[in-house]
Amino acid sequence: MSQAGVVTEAVAAAAPVAPGPAPAPAPEPVRAHPAVVLGLVAAGAAATIALWWRDTPAVHGLGDWLTNAGRITGLLAGYGVVVLVALMARLPPLERGIGADRLARWHSRGGRYTVGLVVAHALLVVWGYAVTAHTSVVAETTTLWTSYPDVLAATVAGLLLVGVGITSARAARRRLRYETWYYLHFYTYLAVALAFSHQFATGAEFMADRAARVAWGALYAAVAAAIVWYRFVTPVRGALRHRLRVVAVQPEGPGIVSVVVGGRHLDELRAESGQFFRWRFLGQGLWWASSPYSLSAGPRPDRLRITVKDLGDHSRALAGVRPGTRVVAEGPYGAVTAAVRRRRKVLLIGAGIGVTPLRALFETLPAGPGDLTFVYRASRDADVIFRGELAALARDREADLRFLTGRRADLGYDPLSPEALAHNVPDIAHHDVYLCGPPGLTEAVTGSLRAAGVPRRQIHHESFEL
Ligand SMILES: Cc1cc2nc3c(=O)[nH]c(=O)nc-3n(C[C@H](O)[C@H](O)[C@H](O)COP(=O)(O)OP(=O)(O)OC[C@H]3O[C@@H](n4cnc5c(N)ncnc54)[C@H](O)[C@@H]3O)c2cc1C
Repeated sequence: MSQAGVVTEAVAAAAPVAPGPAPAPAPEPVRAHPAVVLGLVAAGAAATIALWWRDTPAVHGLGDWLTNAGRITGLLAGYGVVVLVALMARLPPLERGIGADRLARWHSRGGRYTVGLVVAHALLVVWGYAVTAHTSVVAETTTLWTSYPDVLAATVAGLLLVGVGITSARAARRRLRYETWYYLHFYTYLAVALAFSHQFATGAEFMADRAARVAWGALYAAVAAAIVWYRFVTPVRGALRHRLRVVAVQPEGPGIVSVVVGGRHLDELRAESGQFFRWRFLGQGLWWASSPYSLSAGPRPDRLRITVKDLGDHSRALAGVRPGTRVVAEGPYGAVTAAVRRRRKVLLIGAGIGVTPLRALFETLPAGPGDLTFVYRASRDADVIFRGELAALARDREADLRFLTGRRADLGYDPLSPEALAHNVPDIAHHDVYLCGPPGLTEAVTGSLRAAGVPRRQIHHESFEL
């Protein structure tokens, strides 16, 4: 079925697959539905505005209008910040149902709105108070700082949030090391702590309403407990329970190595093909960073495997990691698993290092003969990894495997265009498609798939950028 001019290669050789059989079935993990989560967040925002509504019988005059606009934006900012932190609390139902990449996008967009609300709150309240008191904005600001409880701390909190927002803007983030940006982000926790007490001390909605204070305090306490539990306690408990160590480091291709990690009771992690962990290797020069890498083979009760391309300091150093090195793995995370599948037939499209989660899915996705197709796109033959393993899996699973290699300029056309895809996979619209590769390629291929008639809900995409 190869298209004229495309360098495709049918499967022939059968090398033994290193990782072993699929894991024994475990109870189905809980997965939050994105629409339900968004609905709950919206309902929470409506309830927050209802707090203001209940406490505000009437609004009179410009000063009062401005102050009340400031109260609403302040309440929504206080609610927004707690939702933003909750999205990043690594709650398993959110991680499995929504996916870390989508959660990060929601967090980033929500962060922009929340910082906007914080700034609007400060400006509107100062302006409203100044109009009501017939004084200047500067004089009113001084009064607020010196005579209102906790307002100075809240101002520092607001400035910290604005600072975190600025360092997260695309232009600034590109200039910062990932770890620098990551640790600067921790100032959000300090900002939340600093701003918390001023809400009860000066927030009209809370000062006289005990039930509102209890509900608001419970919301903050629940999110703080989730952060402590899932981001700090769970990784330590996991490290003690599973005792992960590097078993082997195997070269796979130019600048690419597989790291096999062994441990105890790994079935309890309920990891699935398509998921990733955040890995911390406690070896020299590596322990300070924790990086996300996908499983590149179906998880086994005694070992996990990742495959890493040297794209920076951490990934480059992994080639030199020694067997026996202790490992802490946080996870599993990621929603692009067998659970999102809707159709019997599945097409996996991978390129670059994005083939890693697809390699694991190719091994373990339940499928009958002829139901699975793997399309592997690479500019050069030498860039292809897992060639022998994929061939063996394709043979064992009676699946179709195609290597589409060659540069578009040399081929004279795009082998992932709608026409080429439909030609290679004739009933493509009846497939679930799992897609992973460089951002530009994934965007282009999503467009091709849509043009070839694949509904959006059948396209499952994992981004390697958080
Ligand atoms: C969900 C997911 C799965 C991934 N799976 C694989 C895989 O299977 N194999 C593979 O080779 N690569 C994978 N990556 C990419 C890999 O995480 C980065 O290439 C790696 O972290 C680079 O780190 P570095 O220190 O070597 O490079 P740096 O130069 O420090 O970072 C290069 C870029 O990688 C990203 N990055 C670095 N550290 C992190 C981090 N802790 N969290 C999120 N992004 C980070 C940033 O965008 C950064 O700009 C995955 C990424 C994600 C988000």
